[in-house]
Amino acid sequence: MRDKDLYAQILGIKSPWQVSSVELNELEGEVTVEVARESGSRLCCPTCGKESPGYDSRRRRWRHLDTCQYKTILVADVPRVKCEDHGVVTVSVPWAEPGSGFTLLFEALVIDWLKEASTLAVSRLMKLSWNAIDGIMQRAVVRGLSRREAVCVTQLGVDETAFRKRHDYVTVVSDQAAGTVLHVGNDRTKAGLKDWYDSLSEEQREAIESVSMDMWPAFINATLESIPGAPEKIAFDKFHVAKYLGEAVDKVRRQEHKALMKEGYEDLKGSKYDWLYNPENMTRKQKRRFKALRDSTLKTARAWAIKELAMSLWHYVSKTWAQKGWDQWLSWAVRSRLDPIKEVAKTIKEHLWGILNAIVLKVSNGPAEGINSRIKTIKVRSRGFRNKERFANAIYFHLGGLDLYPEGVVR
Ligand SMILES: [Zn+2]
Repeated sequence: MRDKDLYAQILGIKSPWQVSSVELNELEGEVTVEVARESGSRLCCPTCGKESPGYDSRRRRWRHLDTCQYKTILVADVPRVKCEDHGVVTVSVPWAEPGSGFTLLFEALVIDWLKEASTLAVSRLMKLSWNAIDGIMQRAVVRGLSRREAVCVTQLGVDETAFRKRHDYVTVVSDQAAGTVLHVGNDRTKAGLKDWYDSLSEEQREAIESVSMDMWPAFINATLESIPGAPEKIAFDKFHVAKYLGEAVDKVRRQEHKALMKEGYEDLKGSKYDWLYNPENMTRKQKRRFKALRDSTLKTARAWAIKELAMSLWHYVSKTWAQKGWDQWLSWAVRSRLDPIKEVAKTIKEHLWGILNAIVLKVSNGPAEGINSRIKTIKVRSRGFRNKERFANAIYFHLGGLDLYPEGVVR
């Protein structure tokens, strides 16, 4: 008798349910707790709550938290009622969600573990199939997304991240202030991003003050068409501009190095990373060597100086002064006689409006890049994803800032 009370307490079983028996199978290392309804207790339709006549019952099992190392299984005959409006439906039980083979507390424990370890590791730990663990994760995300209140975001970040192969991308929209992922799009098309903007209310779209992004036409056009005042809100991110200029410097270096080697000069040999990294992170010896390179009359040194100047042009407060600074830079870059630099300069000139927005709005994809590196960690941990839905699900689970736990479980 006492073990029944004990289990009723452990499991939080309350009237009209009661623990009717506890069976220990030592060989299997399993405890089976049978729960039954008190006879004569009224039955209600789970949809409308109306008292309804019983129809039949179904035997169901739920995995619960282990007790003293024993796998613990809850068993109950769950009645079905015949509701006037909803037909034959299974009544809800207080310890589990409809359709789940796990109790609420067990699901919560799995969610806790999934935050720390891969689906595979958790499935081994819990001695459950990979699919069962993945199901708990998926349900947690559905729960979290449905609970997410109408978000009011002022600073959006739109970025892309590679899914599996190099040219297969997903779009990640983030709330830069909260550092959470709001949306994972299946591709990186204009239509995809537009669909998401369309899912927002008019107030939500109007509340958006900045959208930080790369100079990617699909993202630009979707935003221009969907967000009121977008020409003042689209901000081209500093890190992406730096990346393009860095690639241009590297191209200049490669071309020049090749030409020099032909003549028998090794000035640029082994200097690739010197031009890419921040001199502040160099050792004294590296610094000395790099200073000599930088001060040389090499084309690479000129390209590098042009890039460095561009990177110093992000501190302005006034748009007018920023415009003047960049105009000067553009005229230098265009006259540099360095084709890779001229090419990036052309792109920058076309997109200067959004670069100026980024400067005065003081936004960048820094937070989105942080999210990107966490997505990479998720990918490494899971050793790749079989499909994009799973990938998106994991991103929402870890980075969505969602309330993932079943109803009534406090964490
Ligand atoms: Zn009903």
